[in-house]
Amino acid sequence: MKAMLLKGPNTPFELVQRPDPVAGPGEAVARVITCGSGLTIQHAKAGRRKISFPRIIGHEITGEIAEVGPGVTSLKVGDAVTTYFYLNCGHCRWCLANLEPLCANSGGQVGLECDGGYAEYMKLPAQNFIKLPETLDYQAHPAEIGVITDALATPYKVLSRARIKAGETVAVIGAGGGLGIHQLMMAKWARARVIAVDTRAAKFEACRKAGADEVVDASGGRVAEQLMELTKGEGVDVVVDYVSSTATLEAGAKALGRRGRLVTLGGSGKPFQVSAADMLNKEQDLLGSRYVTRREILETLDIVARGEVFPLVSEIRPLEQAEAVHQLVERGEVIGRAALRIA
Ligand SMILES: [Zn+2]
Repeated sequence: MKAMLLKGPNTPFELVQRPDPVAGPGEAVARVITCGSGLTIQHAKAGRRKISFPRIIGHEITGEIAEVGPGVTSLKVGDAVTTYFYLNCGHCRWCLANLEPLCANSGGQVGLECDGGYAEYMKLPAQNFIKLPETLDYQAHPAEIGVITDALATPYKVLSRARIKAGETVAVIGAGGGLGIHQLMMAKWARARVIAVDTRAAKFEACRKAGADEVVDASGGRVAEQLMELTKGEGVDVVVDYVSSTATLEAGAKALGRRGRLVTLGGSGKPFQVSAADMLNKEQDLLGSRYVTRREILETLDIVARGEVFPLVSEIRPLEQAEAVHQLVERGEVIGRAALRIA
C-alpha cells in the first residue's frame, strides 16, 4: 500500500510503499478514504509531542472495512467506519464507567502509538472502529464525516463537561483553530451566546459564520477586560480555552462570573494562578476536558446526520500533499480543518 511515513521528529513526510496490513485476532483493517490533518498530529510531526518512529500518523478517518480478523463479530467487510482515537483497555473501572478517556491501562492513541490513517489501509483493534450511521452520506462528504470523531465530538463533550445551558454566555479562546471553530458551532447549537476570542484577524469572519455572536481581538491583550465589557461587568458563564497558555488561562479565569466554569483542553500544560477568593465567593469551577467517549462520538454523528451541525473542512488535498497541508496547519492558516483524500 501507499503511505506517507514520518521517519523522525521534524522531518518531511516520505511517500513509501508498505505491505498491506493483515488483521490478526480481534483486529480489523479499513480502506482509508480520507483522514483529517489537525494540530494534535502536527505536534507529533514537529517533535513537540514524543512518539516513536517510523510512524504513519492520522486518526480522523472515513473508511470502509476491508478485512476482519478471527473472533471479530462487530464489523463486516464493507462497513463504513470512523475511528476512536484512544487505545483503551475496555475493562478497567474508567472504561466500564463510560469514562474511557481516563483509562487506567491506556495504550496511547491511534496514529501516534500505532500506525494511523495517512495510508491506503489501516489496522486497529476492532473496538477502535466506529460504524457510521446509515443516514450519514459519507461518500458525498468523507472529509467532513471523518473529522467528527475528534474535531466536532471533542467540543460536543465540552457542552456537558461544562454544563452549558441555553442562554448562557460562552467564550472560546483560540476560536479560530480547528477545534475552536467547531466549539463555536456546538455552543451555538446549544443555544448559548457565543463569544470568539482569537489573535488572528484572518479568522474572525469564519468565527462569525460558525456561530460567534461577538468576536474579541486578543492580539492587544486585555481579554478579561473585553469579556467583562461585553457582559456589562457580570463575567461570562463559561470559558473554553483551546490555547491554555498561562496567560490565556489566567485571563479566562478573571473573566468568569458567578458560577463560572473554566475549561482547559490541550495547550502547554503550564501552571497558572487563579483567585481562590473569586472561586469561593463566586462558586467557580476549574475543569479539564479530555477527548470523548464512544457514546459521545455516536451522539455527535447523529447530530450531523440530522443536519443540525456540519464540520468545516476547508482544505482537502491528495495524500501526496501531506507535507504542504501540515505546513498550513503549523502556520495556523487553515480555516476549520484540513484533510487528505486517499481513495
Ligand atoms: Zn481501561
